[in-house]
Amino acid sequence: MADSRQSFVIERNPEPVGVADRAKVLADPGFGRVFTDHMALIRYSEGKGWHDARITARKPLMLDPASAVLHYAQEIFEGLKAYKTADGGMAMFRPDANARRFRQSAQRLAMAELPEELFIESIRQLVAIDKDWFPTVEGGSLYIRPFMFANEVFLGVKPSSEYLYLVIISPVGGYFKSGAPAVSIWVSQNYTRAAPGGTGAAKCGGNYASSLVAQAEASKHGCDQVVFLDAAEHKWVEELGGMNVFFVFEDGSLQTPPLSGTILPGITRDSLMTLARSEGLTVREEPYSFDQWKRDAASGKLTECFACGTAAVVTPIGKVASPEGEFKMGAGGPGQTTMRIKQKLVDIQRGVAPDPHGWVHKLG
Ligand SMILES: *Cc1c(COP(=O)(O)O)cnc(C)c1O
Repeated sequence: MADSRQSFVIERNPEPVGVADRAKVLADPGFGRVFTDHMALIRYSEGKGWHDARITARKPLMLDPASAVLHYAQEIFEGLKAYKTADGGMAMFRPDANARRFRQSAQRLAMAELPEELFIESIRQLVAIDKDWFPTVEGGSLYIRPFMFANEVFLGVKPSSEYLYLVIISPVGGYFKSGAPAVSIWVSQNYTRAAPGGTGAAKCGGNYASSLVAQAEASKHGCDQVVFLDAAEHKWVEELGGMNVFFVFEDGSLQTPPLSGTILPGITRDSLMTLARSEGLTVREEPYSFDQWKRDAASGKLTECFACGTAAVVTPIGKVASPEGEFKMGAGGPGQTTMRIKQKLVDIQRGVAPDPHGWVHKLG
């Protein structure tokens, strides 16, 4: 039986990517298409618990066609980044929060819970072996993707008795192709992301699967992203497909929808609230309706709006469109408060500013 102190077997990739090829991709990696030489892997089976922890060559998996995840989508994931810090080292941002959320997602999906120390250790070991994969592009980072899925070979409907936990790393530049200063969003009237009692607060692939058709609708209307309204009343703003949303008002206060069980509890969301409050700003976690949004944008009471999440950090929202028409946020570009608190967060993540909340987890 394995526990969080178990050691990882290290199997170096016998055929790593060559130095010249690696340097070429690291100069412009984009988002999510380039991967490092290794992956972390831990198995779980009922009775045996967590076992077989290893760092091994990144390669295709062998799955039985009856593997449970392929049929009933019992799968969860996380996303966090390793940054280069001002002192030349590397650090992760609040990995303990990701470890905790991963366990909470596992609970909701009736999956085995990975001990938090094991989650963090798997990432430390993997980043250590693939540290030469850090992108050379300005603003680059290592995007770390832990995930877990059901792999019992059984077509009956029940929680799986076996799981595979893996971590892969993608060196990344910016998230949005356009590198646009502000994104446009489409308010979905036809689809919702999460219903009360559902899986909205869990980071599971299924939530994304059901959001794709709405994202496609947004693209069809020339928008970058979709924003969802609540499932019960179709009235309250919830979040984007993979990012939380904030509103900034004329009086300097901020507002974000409350964590009601249908919204993913973003670590960026939580960090920005803490930073804004430490600046003396008022931050409300209160419902905000789409009607109010339109009214406040028209009256000038609402001055800025932004989305946030690990992948894109803070992204200003410049335009909001729906079947009834569209409106601009402020001047349609990034707002001052948005850019100021974004910078505050980035400075802490990169070790440029002090870290009063103990968020930065040094590596290596
Ligand atoms: C991951 C995610 C977020 C952002 O969470 P962070 O912890 O800030 O990266 C927001 N919404 C959804 C649906 C997500 O999956």
